[in-house]
Amino acid sequence: PYEVLVVGGGPAGASAAIYAARKGIRTGIVADRVGGQVLDTMSIENLVSVPHTEGPKLAADLERHMSDYDIDLVRSQQAAGLSEGRDGLTMVDLAGGAALSGKTVVLATGARWRTMGVPGEEEYRNKGVTFCPHCDGPLFKGKDIAVIGGGNSGVEAAIDLAGIVGHVTLIEFLDEMRADEVLQRKVHSLPNVDVRLGTKTTEVIGDGGKVTGIAIEPRDGGQGEQLDVEGVFVQIGLLPNTEWLGDAVELSERGEVVIDGVGRTNLPGVFAAGDCTIEPYKQIVTALGAGSTASLSAFDHLIRSSAP
Ligand code: FAD
Repeated sequence: PYEVLVVGGGPAGASAAIYAARKGIRTGIVADRVGGQVLDTMSIENLVSVPHTEGPKLAADLERHMSDYDIDLVRSQQAAGLSEGRDGLTMVDLAGGAALSGKTVVLATGARWRTMGVPGEEEYRNKGVTFCPHCDGPLFKGKDIAVIGGGNSGVEAAIDLAGIVGHVTLIEFLDEMRADEVLQRKVHSLPNVDVRLGTKTTEVIGDGGKVTGIAIEPRDGGQGEQLDVEGVFVQIGLLPNTEWLGDAVELSERGEVVIDGVGRTNLPGVFAAGDCTIEPYKQIVTALGAGSTASLSAFDHLIRSSAP
């Protein structure tokens, strides 16, 4: 068995694996792709101490850093199940049929953004279509943008972005926003935010290189129109990659792994980090920090549970 078995090869998983290997203990990582969501983006400007990098470069750097250590990288494999094995081991079943075991396991399978599924959304991803206000807000300084989604994340994004961009149009499909009352009051008080309820987005429009607008129409039919915007922040949900866990560990209502302040799940010996957990801010730096925390907690668990 591994002493620390990490599942997921994004920033949280890479950080957990490096911290474990630096303790000189047997470390494995199951990664369907090394880099995780970082591979889906280009410009990254908030990885503190690295003023600018790009997604594919950061993913390669994570892999290079892992290769400096004795880490078993089990590539292109999906974990399909987690269960308690004999002698206090935790078993991770792989989709291919094999199984790995760990004295401790760090879950770091990340999350994926829910998309609108309209024409242009995929084509203009990272060319105006974005999912992360903390990451990309400053790129739209002074410009007109749209935020899609009137839940907490959409309304928080609109409030946040209103301080940076020129004008925000918040589009909500339903006839009311689902965000907390206090956030709704705040967003309505901002002079450069318009809220459009009962409205669906039917297309992201661009000039071939970048976004120039979106097509919207009343949800119940009627005259459609085009909004001229240079950015579209899609905030209609972040789905944690935790389906494979079933009910093996405690999950929140949203399917996120419930952890305590040091990355422990409810299952002894099983830890979690990054976007698959209840950690609210979902950034590369927070995932890196959480990965190290979970790994150090796993190490602490090992030294406390092994016989003298
Ligand atoms: P992830 O990066 O999601 O990595 C988890 C990995 O585990 C993935 O490779 C996933 O495929 C894999 N996995 C899932 N299920 C399984 C399974 N069953 N078995 C094996 N492997 C599995 N953050 C910033 O700080 N700055 C930015 O500029 C920035 N830009 C972004 C742009 C885009 C387009 C996106 C989508 C995100 C961006 N983020 C940014 C957010 C950042 O990428 C995430 O917060 C971070 O990658 C989370 O790291 P993680 O390791 O927790 O999860």
